[in-house]
Amino acid sequence: MSRPVVTRFAPSPTGMLHIGGVRTALFCWLFARKHGGRFILRIEDTDLSRSTDDNIRIIEEGMAWVGLDWDEGPIVGDPTQWKGPHGPYRQMQRMESHYKPAVERLLAEGKAYRCRCTREELDERRKLADAKGVPFTYNQGVDAGKGCRDANHDASQPYSVRLKMPQDGAIILDDLVKGHIEFPADTLDDWIIARTGEGSEIGVPTYNFCVVVDDTGMEVTHVIRGDDHVANTPKQIALYQAMGYELPQFAHVPMILGKDGAKLSKRHGATSITEYQALGLLPSAVRLALARLSWTPKIDGKAVESAEEEILTDEQMIQLFDLNEIQKSPARFDMDKLNWMNQKLIQKATWQELEPHLRPFLPEAWAPKSDEWKRIAITATQKGKSLVEMAEALRFAFERPAEFDEKGVAKFMTEAVKPALREVAALSDYAHDALEAAFNAILERHGLKTKDLAQALRVALCGKPVSPGIFDTLMLLESAEVQARLEKWI
Ligand code: GLU
Repeated sequence: MSRPVVTRFAPSPTGMLHIGGVRTALFCWLFARKHGGRFILRIEDTDLSRSTDDNIRIIEEGMAWVGLDWDEGPIVGDPTQWKGPHGPYRQMQRMESHYKPAVERLLAEGKAYRCRCTREELDERRKLADAKGVPFTYNQGVDAGKGCRDANHDASQPYSVRLKMPQDGAIILDDLVKGHIEFPADTLDDWIIARTGEGSEIGVPTYNFCVVVDDTGMEVTHVIRGDDHVANTPKQIALYQAMGYELPQFAHVPMILGKDGAKLSKRHGATSITEYQALGLLPSAVRLALARLSWTPKIDGKAVESAEEEILTDEQMIQLFDLNEIQKSPARFDMDKLNWMNQKLIQKATWQELEPHLRPFLPEAWAPKSDEWKRIAITATQKGKSLVEMAEALRFAFERPAEFDEKGVAKFMTEAVKPALREVAALSDYAHDALEAAFNAILERHGLKTKDLAQALRVALCGKPVSPGIFDTLMLLESAEVQARLEKWI
């Protein structure tokens, strides 16, 4: 019977949440959602020297912001709690309960052994392998028969634990993205599953060990991750077999490159999810742009092409997502494309959808404004390329201009316009239609064109001849503030 689909994203909190990691998480999420399965977030914090609580928080918050909700995993901001039946979801909290018993079992069953080789001994043998021009693989090839698998070293010494790897044949990976890969057994050494511990204790298990114990314990059916993990997979497959665990399906997705073809790095601009958030991008735009890296969805068997088709909703992405359509080769990240998608999605969104995303970019005075005020503010600035641009365009509503654009003043603050400004200052009915009618009447009385009065108003009210539509600008400021700002000009 096939198992219900379970995927997981398992970041190591050794740095910020990289956009490449988010793309992997997104594929896991899309796949789980498509199959009505579960998506797990697991924190792999066994690298004690580099993992920090701050990085864990950044991962959790970044994932929450980008909208990749997890069904099982940590609770944001509370390391003592988690949701889901397979916790804890931080590896360091699973040492005694999960990993050490699994290591003990393998030792007891003779599938793993204690290794007491000293660093000096290993270095010596490594040199020998180097001299022969072959890679050093513990207890395989030129090193066969020299390790603790065959001869026990001084039993009073601390030990690491190694897995007995198959000695002939090959380990086969049938990857859902990369295809069929064979790893000859003699290229894979008896790798360390638990580091050297204190005295007779088992030490901290290694990544390749914990990941298998966790993926099995958490009932993961599809391991979707970056292709930098392909080389780890044969080790993990051998461990699944030694433990008698059912193998999951593997899908290794290509990494992300910059536009120039080099590995995506700081040099190309923002790489962490926190930076994307600060740039004023909608999480939905980030999701869409990342999904489209290495994946060309097909609608009715035809690759999406037109600009309209490209703007897929989450529901469409979930429905169309197919691991078989993931490219094998690395994807190039294109910031312009992301910005374009962001602008499209901003334009498509309702003001209520945009409001929670825009709020963090606006001053506190935003929150108490009425819904109608917010509606005008958002719809009036929805042409912006980003939330930052929208917030910038709304700044005039919260701050009086500190200075006035000289050219704008010279060009638009004419003597002819002043009496009209005076009349605008006197208006009190700010309902849209009334305002428009009064405005047109003023134009007519003074023989002015819309642009003459609108630009003069913008300079006076906002400091520069740029603002949302003039009626929106007036309505957002409201009559008392319009009057106050016009005073110095009339
Ligand atoms: N913790 C690993 C990493 O951050 C991922 C492990 C996995 O997906 O198997 O690269």
